[in-house]
Amino acid sequence: MDFSPTQEQRQIQEMVAEFVDEEVKPRAAEIDDTDEFPWDLVEQMAELGLMGMPIPEEYGGAELDYHSYAMALEEISRGSGGLGTIVAAHISLACNMIYEFGDESQKETYLTPLAEGEEIGAFALSEAGAGSDVPAMDTTAEPIEGGDAYLVNGGKLWISNGSVADTVVLFAKTDPEAGNKGISSFIVRPEEDDGFIVEGTEHKLGDKGCPTAELRFDDMRLPADRRLGEEGRGFVHALKTLNGGRITIAARGVGIAQAALDEALRYAQDREQFDQPISDFQAIQHKLADMDTKTQAARLLMHQAADKKMAGDSFVKEAAQAKLYASEVSREVANEGIQIHGGYGYTKDFPVERFYRDAKLNEIYEGTSEVLRNTIASELLD
Ligand SMILES: Cc1cc2nc3c(=O)[nH]c(=O)nc-3n(C[C@H](O)[C@H](O)[C@H](O)COP(=O)(O)OP(=O)(O)OC[C@H]3O[C@@H](n4cnc5c(N)ncnc54)[C@H](O)[C@@H]3O)c2cc1C
Repeated sequence: MDFSPTQEQRQIQEMVAEFVDEEVKPRAAEIDDTDEFPWDLVEQMAELGLMGMPIPEEYGGAELDYHSYAMALEEISRGSGGLGTIVAAHISLACNMIYEFGDESQKETYLTPLAEGEEIGAFALSEAGAGSDVPAMDTTAEPIEGGDAYLVNGGKLWISNGSVADTVVLFAKTDPEAGNKGISSFIVRPEEDDGFIVEGTEHKLGDKGCPTAELRFDDMRLPADRRLGEEGRGFVHALKTLNGGRITIAARGVGIAQAALDEALRYAQDREQFDQPISDFQAIQHKLADMDTKTQAARLLMHQAADKKMAGDSFVKEAAQAKLYASEVSREVANEGIQIHGGYGYTKDFPVERFYRDAKLNEIYEGTSEVLRNTIASELLD
């Protein structure tokens, strides 16, 4: 049992932390205000090798271990929750789908430009009527031309990076009668595939800068060589991918919690009431102590899940626990961050209200907290 990062892991964290402090933090309020995709920051992250962190070098990635990847995503999310989602959806969902389930030619053609950061990826699973209940999806991919192609019809909702993506990993029913065994996964190229329509993007509480898109597919023809793996394996692909993705949403939670704690620590020592810094009050000290303790505990759960994944063990329960706990902790710590700032915390003059809005999302996407509790309980009872 070793809880300390290696020298290499520490160097990666320091490199990303420096980038975040110098480039991301000064821009975070503006991104939150404009809700515009931060192309320049994504370009800089590509140069630093941060857009394909865990992907092997032969496919354009940086081949980092999952601890380093989680630590880097924690740092990015400490700077901007929206940027955290952009990177998590791009790598953990889109890149990992193609890496895990794509054939050699698909990896060379579609994964490499994603992992190099030349292109942006998205993962289109959810629909208006199919969120937690994935098999309820209505989107179909009907085999045509004697099996040489598919005709896709339907729509997807809530797709992070969906309006800016060059490659979208799509889930659709190839056999609508077969329930979750009738779902297949595909690579879609919005620029090339006629019938791919971006209906619009959501106006959200937080997570600004990462566009959350509604997509529609009208008789969109996909050649058969865009299917990932065998027909009918899409549901399994989605579950496996989301499982790994939960480690990085835990990282996003830990990063936002750390940001709230850092700001609260600074403010508490600065703000004076009753002729003393408010950090002299034991009530404030206890809040800070709880905030740090919860953040550290969430971080350890995140690393435990990463450890299991790297060891090749099942990590379904650990990833669900890390994501569940870090999500709730990020919201709680951000809430106390506002409380320590008093009235100022409720304004946009300080970043703590943004952390609170960004944190809330962690409890909803990639498995709601209720669904994750179901997962953990079923692993316990299995
Ligand atoms: C900003 C944002 C970005 C997103 N990005 C993506 C993306 O990139 N790709 C993608 O495919 N999806 C994405 N999603 C969709 C997200 O994964 C879903 O919103 C989520 O899975 C919940 O589905 P839902 O919104 O339909 O809620 P519902 O499933 O309708 O849930 C509503 C409520 O019922 C509860 N509930 C549902 N089923 C159960 C159950 N069995 N037991 C107990 N409680 C239950 C839920 O926990 C929740 O509280 C994103 C969502 C948001 C908000």
